[in-house]
Amino acid sequence: MNLIDATRDLQQYLFQYPIERLAESEARSLSERLHAVLRGHNHRYYVDDDPVIADVEYDQLYKALEKLEERFPDLVTPDSPTQRVGGAPLDEFEKVEHPQAMLSLSNAFNADDVRAWYDRCKRGLQAALDQEIEPALTAELKIDGLAVALTYAGGSLSVAATRGSGLVGENITHNVRTIRAIPLAIPVSQGPEAPAAPERIEVRGEIYMRKSEFDQLNERLAGQQEKTFANPRNAAAGSLRQLDPAITATRPLRFFAYGVGPATGTMPASQHALLERLGAFGFATNEQTKRFTTLDEALAYYEYWVDHRDDLDYEIDGVVLKIDDFGYQDILGFRSKAPRWALAVKFPARESTTTLTDIILNVGRTGVVKPEAVLEPVEIGGVTVSQATLHNEDYIRSRDIRIDDTVVVKRAGDVIPAVVKVVDENRPGRGEEWKMRETCPSCETSLVRLPDEADYYCMNAECPAQFIRLLEHYASRAAMDVEGLGSKMAVLLAEQGFVHRLSDVYRLHERRDVLENLEGFGEKKVQNLLDGIEASKQRPLARLLFGLGIRHVGQDAAERIVTGFASLEALEGATQEALEAIDGIGPITAESVVDWFKLENNRLLAQELRNLGVNTIRTEAETPVVVAEGEGGEATVAGKKFVLTGTLPTLARSEAKARIKQAGGKVSGSVSRNTDYVVVGESPGSKYDKAQELGIATIDEEGLLGLLATAD
Ligand code: NAD
Repeated sequence: MNLIDATRDLQQYLFQYPIERLAESEARSLSERLHAVLRGHNHRYYVDDDPVIADVEYDQLYKALEKLEERFPDLVTPDSPTQRVGGAPLDEFEKVEHPQAMLSLSNAFNADDVRAWYDRCKRGLQAALDQEIEPALTAELKIDGLAVALTYAGGSLSVAATRGSGLVGENITHNVRTIRAIPLAIPVSQGPEAPAAPERIEVRGEIYMRKSEFDQLNERLAGQQEKTFANPRNAAAGSLRQLDPAITATRPLRFFAYGVGPATGTMPASQHALLERLGAFGFATNEQTKRFTTLDEALAYYEYWVDHRDDLDYEIDGVVLKIDDFGYQDILGFRSKAPRWALAVKFPARESTTTLTDIILNVGRTGVVKPEAVLEPVEIGGVTVSQATLHNEDYIRSRDIRIDDTVVVKRAGDVIPAVVKVVDENRPGRGEEWKMRETCPSCETSLVRLPDEADYYCMNAECPAQFIRLLEHYASRAAMDVEGLGSKMAVLLAEQGFVHRLSDVYRLHERRDVLENLEGFGEKKVQNLLDGIEASKQRPLARLLFGLGIRHVGQDAAERIVTGFASLEALEGATQEALEAIDGIGPITAESVVDWFKLENNRLLAQELRNLGVNTIRTEAETPVVVAEGEGGEATVAGKKFVLTGTLPTLARSEAKARIKQAGGKVSGSVSRNTDYVVVGESPGSKYDKAQELGIATIDEEGLLGLLATAD
């Protein structure tokens, strides 16, 4: 049986038979199966750099084995995956014996696990020191890369090794020498700022790849028809363990130092001081590291990073807590695989593997046709995922994604789940290569791929699927906010023929009786819908403009356009030049608006909406204030371009912007010769320097308030 099938069988078995209920004979056979499967995954992960299941799935199997061994201690063998670190080093590389074992970290998945660990540390210290101690902690990000040990002798990098099995790693010195973030020499004699490094020291840390650079690398590999990597960690590992350092040199690898192995001479006595010292030697250390005196603060740090991990340009899979004081660390010591004084607190999962059962095409409101994966439902971070985006034809082809493949699915933050990679592409009897359909799945019109675009489009303006998406968009909260008209209702109204074009929404009241008799409807629901529709007639013009679904006219563009045109009618006659004269409206958006109104059908729609009572005129709040004339006859705020820099003493930046706009001024993000005023707050940025350089007037908050007062 192949590894994936064996894994699925095991997962199902563990789901059906809780470990607490197993008899010893069953436990023994389960333990053998877990050993074999975990060993297989270790090999794929540590040796091939090409895992076939997600980390969370691996962790679940691993936990199951730990639990089993806890219940039946006889099952613990020296070669059990719970007793060993990493994987065997590759034969292609020279072996390096680690003078001091490179261990793993114990894991925690929730606050209870963390508290239990901290209590154990406290008890350990109390037993040894006979006093109650609340040890301080360093909290570091857990960088998802791979561990290396860098030995410096006489200040020069002499050996770089992977962690390997923890006892023996691979000699990757040639490859590591190509990584610019790793110093080839460190100061062994005292400099003016840098303290002297020991004659011999082993620096440990994580080699990783930035997310942005990983994406570029994968694009490049896909373009060269080469195998892509599932994630930055595998890309870093694969790039580092190349036999040819010239290839490693082309890979964007980076490094953070987080510890030391054996070192001669004296070194700082705590983790946070050590990190500072490593920084002084010239190593990159992670700037988010913090020292806390209470566990609660450390837990708050963890919670913060659960929500903010996507703000970083590198992957982290948790937070590492370490008892800060090295004296305490020595007292606590090690277990077989990991130190007792450190804990990896893992983040909730965001990836899993599952079977892709079908590829369907989805028609969007602009006619864009996007492939989507139908998946065997899988739980990722507490949400069941059964569909995921496949982006476009090129994406599928470059990754050779086929029906019935096992795929990695990623669900991160608010982003739509996506299929990242196939993991069993070498399995025999795979399905056929996927081909893009030539016609629209909804209306059968031939699909067109526009030059320089990866997407296909259905160009039929009457395409029913497109219309449903448009109706959903029109009624959505950010557009006309029609209460009672959500996605399901949009599909029903369009499919049952109640609404063929947007204006039909405002004729629905004529069909009240028929609607009320539909299954699942009734008087109240219909009344709600009709009330929602009625209320939407009064929305501001920019919302209507956005709701019409004109390509390139997003919320922001709609708001900008409305400052230049007082009604939909006025916009109908707009020229490309007049649109482009509006701040923030470029030629692409301008052309799209002009093209939209060129179509007879669209002009008719605008007229119908107006006749049906929908507001098509700019509201007062949307109207820029008429140019206020200063004493010298000069405009004060209206028509002027402002740039904000630094923190203003009382006004929030958003408020300052809103008030400038309200007074008819414009706010832009960068200083140019066209800027009229740069408003300077505390700690201004480079915009202030630019203003000085170009001789642009600078004012403070008081100055701005003064200008605003004259505009009132
Ligand atoms: P680990 O990755 O959970 O933790 C130990 C490692 O954390 C260290 O070796 C070091 O490389 C790293 N680390 C990052 N930042 C650090 C910091 N600030 N301080 C100290 N260490 C830091 O343990 P592991 O033994 O390397 O690997 C186990 C992990 O690998 C599990 O999470 C498992 O899911 C994954 N794995 C997955 C598969 C698979 O098939 N998907 C197979 C094997 C292992």
